[in-house]
Parts: sequence; C-alpha cells; structure tokens
Amino acid sequence: MSETTHFDLIAIGGGSGGLAVAETAAEFGKRVAVIEAGELGGTCVNNGCVPKKVMWYAAQIAHAVDDAPAFGIPAKRGTTDWQRLVGDREGYIDNIRGYWNGYVADSGIEHIRGYARFVDAHTVAVGDEHFSADHIVIATGGQPIVPPIRGAELGITSDGFFQLDALPERVAIIGGGYIGVELAGVLRALGSQVRLIALEERVLEAFDPMVSDVLMTQMQAQGIALHLGYTVAGLAKTAAGIAVDASDGRRLDGFDCVIWAVGRKPNTASLNLAVTGVDVRSNGIVPTDEYQNTNVPGIYAIGDITGRTPLTPVAIAAGRRLAMRLFGQQTEAKVDYDNIPSVVFAHPPVATVGLTEPQARARGGQVSVYETRFTPMRHSLGGHGGETAMKLVCTGSEQRVVGIHIIGDNADEMLQGFAVAVKMGATKADFDNTIAIHPTSAEELVTLRAPQPEPEVQQEIDSGVEWRRAG
Ligand SMILES: Cc1cc2nc3c(=O)[nH]c(=O)nc-3n(C[C@H](O)[C@H](O)[C@H](O)COP(=O)(O)OP(=O)(O)OC[C@H]3O[C@@H](n4cnc5c(N)ncnc54)[C@H](O)[C@@H]3O)c2cc1C
Repeated sequence: MSETTHFDLIAIGGGSGGLAVAETAAEFGKRVAVIEAGELGGTCVNNGCVPKKVMWYAAQIAHAVDDAPAFGIPAKRGTTDWQRLVGDREGYIDNIRGYWNGYVADSGIEHIRGYARFVDAHTVAVGDEHFSADHIVIATGGQPIVPPIRGAELGITSDGFFQLDALPERVAIIGGGYIGVELAGVLRALGSQVRLIALEERVLEAFDPMVSDVLMTQMQAQGIALHLGYTVAGLAKTAAGIAVDASDGRRLDGFDCVIWAVGRKPNTASLNLAVTGVDVRSNGIVPTDEYQNTNVPGIYAIGDITGRTPLTPVAIAAGRRLAMRLFGQQTEAKVDYDNIPSVVFAHPPVATVGLTEPQARARGGQVSVYETRFTPMRHSLGGHGGETAMKLVCTGSEQRVVGIHIIGDNADEMLQGFAVAVKMGATKADFDNTIAIHPTSAEELVTLRAPQPEPEVQQEIDSGVEWRRAG
C-alpha cells in the first residue's frame, strides 16, 4: 500500500458542488484534491442541464420553424438530423470538459480519478491509494431511480436519453416531474410520438396549480398524450414493442422507448460512510446543518446528496460558501435556501420563485393573488403557441411579494431579475412603481391590477396582447 497523501481539503465528486468548493479553496492557496469517478463537470455538464438545454434549444427552433410562415418566412420542417444534433451537442460538452480539466490543472488542484471510499473519518481510498485531509467534502450527487418492478430494465433513464443514437418513434415517459416534462417536450417537438405517464393527477405537482393547468393544456395541444393517475406496475416486451402496465390492469403498448423519470437517489452507497459515523438517512441523503456540516467534525456535504433543492447553482453556492467559511475567515458564510428561483425547460418554459398560492394560504394571514393569462403577440400572429400565465402571490397588509409563477415564452430569462426583487423583500407597490418595458410579456408583471369582481377579457390594442384578469 502507498503512503497517505495529505491535503487541506478533498472534494469527493467533481460535479457542480465539488468543483466549486475545490476551486474556492485553491484560490485561498490551499492544497486541494478532487476525486471524480467519471468526467469532471458531473451531472450538470455531462447528463443534465447542459445537454438538456441544447436539446431544448433544438425543440424551440423546431417550434419557431412551424411559426415562421405566419410571419412571411417560408420555412418547413423535415426530419430531425439526430446525429448532427447529438454530435454537435457532444462536441460542445467536450469543450466544457476540456475547460474543466485545464482549469483544475492550472489551479494546482490534484485531480484523482476513480471511486472514493472512506477508510476512516479523515482518510479516503481510491483503489490502493490513500488520501487524507483536514476537511473532506462529500459532493457525490445522485443518479436516476429505476423502480424495482417487473421489466423495469426495459426502460432507460435521462442518462440513457442522452445516449440515444436515433430519435425514437414511439416514446413513453414515466414521471410528471420536471425531467419527465422536459424530455416529453423535446421529443415531441423533434418528431416522436409521446405519451407521458404519471402517478399524480397533474404534471409538476409541486408547482403552483396555474402552471400545471396551462402546461397540461399546451402539452396536449402539441400532441403529447397525458396518462395521469396511472400507477405503473411493470413493463413487458410484446409483439408491438414495450408495454407499460398499470396496477389497475390498464396497458399502454407499442413503445420503442420507455424513459423512467421518477426521481433521483443520492450516491452514498459505495462511500463506506459507516466507518466515519456520518449520519445517513434510509434514502441515502446525508443531512447537514445550515453550514453544510455533517454530524462528524471535518466532514461536510453539499449539493444533491444533502436532499436540499437539487439544482446546480445551489450546489455551487454551497461549495463556494463552505470554502469561504473554512479558509476565508467568513465564519457566517452559508446558503440561504429560501426563495431559490428555478426554471423548468418545458415548451413553453416555467419559471418560479417563492411560495405557491396554496403554500401561502396554508400559512394563514392575508394573501392577495394577482394573475393574468394572455396570448403573447408572437403567438397571436403565429397561431401555434399558447397562453402565457403569470401569478404574483403577496402576503400581509404591505403586500410583500412572496411568490412569482410564470409559464410562457422567455419566462426562463424573465425571472432572474424579479427573483432579486423578491429576495430584497419587494412589495406589490414596488412592482407597481416600476415602469413597464413595452411591448413585452414581462411588463405584465409590473402592471397587474387588483382582482376584479367579475372575470373580464380586454384587448390591448397597441401591443396586440389579449389578456384576461381573473377575479
Ligand atoms: C436531466 C437533468 C437535467 C437537469 N437540469 C438542470 C437545470 O436545468 N438546472 C439546474 O440547476 N440543475 C439541473 N439539474 C440538476 C443538476 O444537474 C444537479 O443539481 C447538480 O449537478 C448537482 O451537483 P452535485 O455537485 O451535487 O452533484 P453532481 O453534479 O451529480 O456531481 C457528483 C459527481 O460525483 C461523482 N461521484 C459519485 N460517487 C463518487 C465516488 N464514490 N467517488 C468519486 N466520485 C463520485 C459523480 O461521478 C459525479 O460526477 C438537472 C439534472 C438532470 C439529471
């Protein structure tokens, strides 16, 4: 066995969180190692946000081509060139991997390739080599869940989706959360027949009901069949393809591709955490306090493994703040997990921050809700797209804005600035005092009026925006 090499900090996992903590610690001049079993960049770069967004762009462009003739642009779609799309996507991702490999080397961070497992609370092994550190950060992320049911292996996961070498013709996506909805939108736009199957009665169940309602209408309008309240009991190989069987005897048959999108589980199993005394929940989550400390001094956890808001910027923020606290004398550095904005890259996209209307009402007190639904100018001409919907949730007599929910074109780019306002404690009056940018969809967020006693439909002549204010 080789000698143990000592570091100030070891990050286990070279994804969003692990790279962030390592990078910041190295900036403080510390001796740092990242242990990564796969490719640097982790889920986001290799199997998540980045390849997903490329596919989303392809789908957006496909929709734009459909809309083009209405604007006098003679365009018509043919068959999607899947190989070209996937090849260019992987080339783009290769560049990002190249960037990270170079950056890690240039920053003096030791890149150790392989699976890490704990030997004791201060030491990890990779193969036969041992590495110790004053601070060890668990940033091993998660992996897609494949439920332990009959025929489950006939399906693939989001990881498998990114490995498809051809556009599947007939697809079943199991799961109505954000990954299921996003993959359904992409595949449908690029030419697949898509059925989305979910246990729940609506897609994006955790989101404001307005968002689910509008999205379900638009998914169906795009030709995505929704099978809700459908408990999958197993998959089977049939003469027609793959069948998805429900526990009540229903069967949906004839799929070329079935995609499990039923959640993710933390990568804790192979870490041998038992030797460290670190608490691990039965579902694999490593709980921490608000400073990312586990129950064992010197061992920390960040990112998806902690079971908190599983998003890349959250993992990055946790990693950076942890290093600032450990090495930068910023003893109070920590992530504020309230009011984290997020986007679902559906068609159209969904953007949300803060409390949903049901969450705000469940807390009691005065709740005021401002909502609008309208057909944006582009779709008034194009005819293919649907409604945009927006909701402000305000609480208290001062009408503090505690929730913003948007579904519609450009919602993904619209929300970031508004999230700053929510974080700063903006009130409805602050929104009202902000002059609108015209003609845009975003202007609706600063021109929402008090709910009217009766629903009314009006026409904004100059912008061509039809809008409805519900009472
Ligand atoms: C399809 C999909 C789409 C997504 N889209 C978005 C999005 O649009 N926006 C967004 O913000 N987030 C998105 N996410 C979520 C985002 O990818 C994660 O929240 C983020 O990657 C979490 O970072 P992390 O550092 O916790 O873990 P990861 O990025 O998953 O990194 C963990 C790393 O640890 C490595 N590892 C695991 N075990 C070991 C071990 N024992 N030894 C060494 N290395 C190990 C893994 O190989 C992996 O590289 C998406 C996720 C998926 C799956």
